[in-house]
Amino acid sequence: MRCANCGETIAASYCGACGQHRFRPQDRRLMHLLREFAEALTDLDGRFWRSMRALLLRPGLLSRDYIAGRRARWMSPVSLFLLANVLYFFAPGMSDFDLPLRDHVRGAVVAQFDPAIAALPAERRASIEANAGQLHSRFTEPWVRARLAALVREAPEGSAFAALEQRYAIASANVSKALIVLHVPFMAVVLLLAMAGRGRYFAEHVVVALHYFAFVLFLFELVVLPGAWLAERAGADAAAGIALRYLLPAALGVYGVIAVRVAYDCGWWRATLAGLALPIALLAINLTIYRALQFAVVLALA
Ligand SMILES: [Zn+2]
Repeated sequence: MRCANCGETIAASYCGACGQHRFRPQDRRLMHLLREFAEALTDLDGRFWRSMRALLLRPGLLSRDYIAGRRARWMSPVSLFLLANVLYFFAPGMSDFDLPLRDHVRGAVVAQFDPAIAALPAERRASIEANAGQLHSRFTEPWVRARLAALVREAPEGSAFAALEQRYAIASANVSKALIVLHVPFMAVVLLLAMAGRGRYFAEHVVVALHYFAFVLFLFELVVLPGAWLAERAGADAAAGIALRYLLPAALGVYGVIAVRVAYDCGWWRATLAGLALPIALLAINLTIYRALQFAVVLALA
């Protein structure tokens, strides 16, 4: 018998050279294809469910096993991260990752190009004009003004700002979701600094960052968003607000500390430092690099 896949001689059920199961006549049938389909959906070997459980409930275990070379048991960090991203694509957007144009530019620019602002009560108008925008707003303003001026020339009657805002919103949702991967390399650099002198490969920091960020995304998709929806239904918005403000940061911090401690097998003080640095870095990167890059890409496409 020869292996149908690689041509090596086969003695047992599996090919010793490439690992494929010996090709049998029944593998050509529709039944076989249907079984493969069912297996892909339900993941009969349990790897998907096992990995999800470990990611959510056993911080750092997946990273530790990956680093130690125990990899076949688990979904790869990349697959897990991609899965979290795919789910995130279908989930309602998280506002911090997808701000409207109004929050990206200084209030003075909004007031200048949106005639509707003039009609607002003085107090509302003043609070809009006082908005300083984002860290990048100062640097990107000439570009925004050029775009707005072009829209004014096209349609002098309407609100140039409203027109640009609409185009921006359409481009923003998907771009924002596609670009969240940008957080990962920067978090890996933070881990590199926190773990300096321990002789780690950079890829190991990337793996820990990928797992951490996948956890954050799954937490939002599976807990925060459904929880917020339920709270709204039950009229418990205040409780949900408190949970978001205190419980969520606490969960992200505790998870980070345990994940780092388990993944790197380091002492508690270093784990605390690096573990708490993870959510802080995530927020800092979000406010600086991510928002600026995302804004530039979306405005270019809008
Ligand atoms: Zn083979």
